[in-house]
Amino acid sequence: MIARPVGAQVAPQREEMRGPIVRCPVPVKNRRRVLCVFPSYVPAFGTFQHAYRLMYGVKAFMPPQGLLLIAAYLPEHWPVRFIDENIRPATQDDFEWAEAVFVSGMHIQRQQMNDICRRAHAFDLAVAIGGPSVSACPDYYPSFDYLHVGELGDATNELIARLARDPSRPEQQVVLKTSDRLAMTEFPIPAYELAEVKKYFLGSIQYSSGCPYQCEFCDIPGLYGRNPRLKTPQQIIAELDKLRECGVTGSVYFVDDNFIGNRKAALDLLPHLVEWQKRTGYVMRLACEATLNIAKRPEILEKMREAFFVTVFCGIETPDPDALKAMHKDHNMMVPILEGIRTINSYGMEVVSGIIMGLDTDKPETGDALLGFVEDSQIPLLTINLLQALPKTPLWDRLEREGRLLNDDDGRDSNVKFLLPYDQVVESWRKCMEVAYQPEKLFARYQYQCDYTYSQRIKVPVSPEQKSWANIRRGLIMLRNIFWKVGVLGDYRKVFWKFALGRLRRGDIEGLIGPALIAHHLIMFARAASVGQQNASNYSIRLREASVPAE
Ligand code: SF4
Repeated sequence: MIARPVGAQVAPQREEMRGPIVRCPVPVKNRRRVLCVFPSYVPAFGTFQHAYRLMYGVKAFMPPQGLLLIAAYLPEHWPVRFIDENIRPATQDDFEWAEAVFVSGMHIQRQQMNDICRRAHAFDLAVAIGGPSVSACPDYYPSFDYLHVGELGDATNELIARLARDPSRPEQQVVLKTSDRLAMTEFPIPAYELAEVKKYFLGSIQYSSGCPYQCEFCDIPGLYGRNPRLKTPQQIIAELDKLRECGVTGSVYFVDDNFIGNRKAALDLLPHLVEWQKRTGYVMRLACEATLNIAKRPEILEKMREAFFVTVFCGIETPDPDALKAMHKDHNMMVPILEGIRTINSYGMEVVSGIIMGLDTDKPETGDALLGFVEDSQIPLLTINLLQALPKTPLWDRLEREGRLLNDDDGRDSNVKFLLPYDQVVESWRKCMEVAYQPEKLFARYQYQCDYTYSQRIKVPVSPEQKSWANIRRGLIMLRNIFWKVGVLGDYRKVFWKFALGRLRRGDIEGLIGPALIAHHLIMFARAASVGQQNASNYSIRLREASVPAE
């Protein structure tokens, strides 16, 4: 872990550390110093903040793919500094160093992005914004000097050319829209070397973008298309090598919107991942997002098992078949849902599930049905959110037509006028959070995963990185934190020890640390949620920010 104190670090500048050369083709002579700032998140269910205090040096969730991609794409002789404000805020020194500022993020980070813009303007710097939020809603960002709408491509080149000519703030806002996207096969490796990767909970990587389905609430097909675009397996292997060089050794999340959006491509990639894991001693545990119908593809599941995929996030959304039909997510019913989950588990992969409440098909008994599903599925981690309408989705259009879109500023946890009374929906959500994450129930589900899922994983050797003193020390510190803060001081310590002793008797330290960290976050977050201290619409959990392939 990086031991320098937060706030005292200066991210390495790019002249010193470079990846393979695929960059902006615009010939530019002038040298510009670019400060890339990623906005902080408000605490959310899906970013695991409560786990960080049990870890060692972890401050943020995942390195943002989009900004690091842009950093790598900028002209070679442009110095770049990257700041993730989840780790430390951009300082006066950073702004004084910069000639231009780039920002990117999701809707949920809108306020923070506008705040970065305000701070940069105090130094009279031109500020450009790209990424999913501005691409969907340019009008959210009236103060920025440059809006980069769409993915990496001709708009990016134009932005670079303009800044090269003149870095000062334009007299009025300039909107640059990508009409010619750069093929993902030409994407440079994101500038992971600029991020303090060891301060992240997870590593991130992206193979594809887009999804062939059209779930009513989802903005992915509208923003990134229905025909998934792809990198090559060779690019992914080079990225994994770079992540490893930068010090990532734990879990790495494929942030693709749907890992099997193009099944053939997934099958093409997997043997390369298997090879890479064998070559490196299985240094990384892999995770991804995929549709539940992956359960129908044993040939993919078997290869994922060999490549040491340990977690799959499935947007199950609801166990109610009528609701799935109504939201156009029929593909979740290609196999019976519980059977699909069991199948994935049997290949050693834990299922994480997205769940939505507040659907038009919900009834007063929906909450109880959901809790029944949690028990039956034995899924430990379910992200239970209230329905939120995102701009540029069929849901948004329908609700607008029906006059059921509400103002974001109404102090509600959703911008949707539900068919059931709002208070009833929120109350039901709170009850589900409270019951699903009672420590006894949660650790019982983890015990099930130990017995029936983790036991199905391939036995991997201990990699040189894992054997290193730095890694052993990190593990010991985490164990100490868990034992002290949960096992001694925690109010659910009895339940914890029942689970922990079982793991310790088997010598399964990893199987103890992972669930203990996640469970602690879930328990703490759910307690706050059940008494109304957390927002009920953490739609950011779907990790789309990291999946944005361009700014
Ligand atoms: S929710 Fe998932 S499956 Fe549905 S369109 Fe979005 S990315 Fe695709």
